[in-house]
Amino acid sequence: MSLSSLDTQMHTLRQQGIHSVMTTFTDLLGAPKGKLVPLEALPDVVAIGAGFAGPSIWGTGLPRMGERSEYFGRVVPESLRPLPWLPGVAHAVCDGFAGGQPLDTCSRQVLRRQLARLRERGWTLWVGIEPEFFLLHRGADGRLGVADSEDRLDKPSYDLQAIVRNHALLDDMRRHLVALGFGLQQMDHEDACGQYEINYRHDEAMAAADRFQLFKLTAHAVAAQHGLVYSGMPKPLARAPGSGLHFHLSLTGADAQALMADPAGPLGLSPAGQRFAAGLLHHADALAAVCAPTVNSYKRLAVSESASGTTWSPVWKAVGDNNRTCLLRAVAGRLEWRLPDPSCNVYLALAATLAAGLHGIDDPTVPGPTVRDDDLYACHAQGGTLPPRLPRDLGAALDALALDRPLVDALGETVCGQFLALKRAEWAQWHAHVSDWEWQRYAAAG
Ligand code: GLU
Ligand code: MG
Repeated sequence: MSLSSLDTQMHTLRQQGIHSVMTTFTDLLGAPKGKLVPLEALPDVVAIGAGFAGPSIWGTGLPRMGERSEYFGRVVPESLRPLPWLPGVAHAVCDGFAGGQPLDTCSRQVLRRQLARLRERGWTLWVGIEPEFFLLHRGADGRLGVADSEDRLDKPSYDLQAIVRNHALLDDMRRHLVALGFGLQQMDHEDACGQYEINYRHDEAMAAADRFQLFKLTAHAVAAQHGLVYSGMPKPLARAPGSGLHFHLSLTGADAQALMADPAGPLGLSPAGQRFAAGLLHHADALAAVCAPTVNSYKRLAVSESASGTTWSPVWKAVGDNNRTCLLRAVAGRLEWRLPDPSCNVYLALAATLAAGLHGIDDPTVPGPTVRDDDLYACHAQGGTLPPRLPRDLGAALDALALDRPLVDALGETVCGQFLALKRAEWAQWHAHVSDWEWQRYAAAG
């Protein structure tokens, strides 16, 4: 961006009452991080970057000393947006640099590299991201629980009474998301007590990932302003559905023609769409580590009973025509990837998903997708033959990622090494923890 257009942008922001820029990057665990800088510093944070101590950030792998100890978040000027819920402050997305080079452990750079592979072919990836979340409240005992004590239906999907009771918060979300340029589509109560989903227009992949991070930041802020807590925990309630973060995926070619869709093809997909699906299912075990990266994620990805009758969470590696019981749903010529949950780093999850899909397209030895047109939950209940299932826990998913050469090569050895080290430590901590369940079951037994 030329200096004069940046000057114009600063002038406009000043006229909008903006005095500070929230320079934001995403750590490897997926949390937005950053700092506030005065608007006057914008040229510097665009050209050089806002500086952060590299080792203070999860997963950078940067040393404590020397030129590469500093993480520079370079502001992407097109991303600047006044924050409607923080007067005087504009939000800006940053790309990570160290030693003057793009940082290979910055997840936005990892996605950028995968998208460059697409651009070489003249292709564009479009992504619709579907955030599900819980609204929680911290009780007098310090514990978090479902905020709305009246939210108690056995089958709570689409409950309008909850929407009315929580309308002040939801309407703040609506106002702010619209002001931030989200093409808002719908808000509803989901299938668990205290659970909601907000949908907005799909976007080019990088813009969609940036938007989800801004969505989370906004949701945390709005919930806090209402004395509540936004939760992207995948499975907060053991006997109710968890929260997914489904990705609706489609590709277009140089002339904007749909590449995955073919109304006459199997599942409404073109050969490229079927091969993309093949790649996702082939790499699903390793993708689980990145798309469902917490201990708790595997409580969601389990064949558990739920109070409402079904969990809707995918377990089996198959694709089906408008079949929500499969890991992958083919719908209207696009693919709904049902594996991701809101605890993922959305840049890394999208980068890995794209790398897996491209591998399916490029490598004819990747086996074709398993297609199922039956209800796999019913099949399971009846003891029928099921497709192979996803890893049962984070440890198994991490092992699968470590062994998945094509995926690790595509994403980069360094970022995968950092990610695996962080997540293996998380897995080890979980094992070192003695839970209430163990006390109840074993303390006085035997
Ligand atoms: N909550 C479900 C999940 O964990 C998805 C429900 C839906 O399909 O909307 O994936
Ligand atoms: Mg949903």
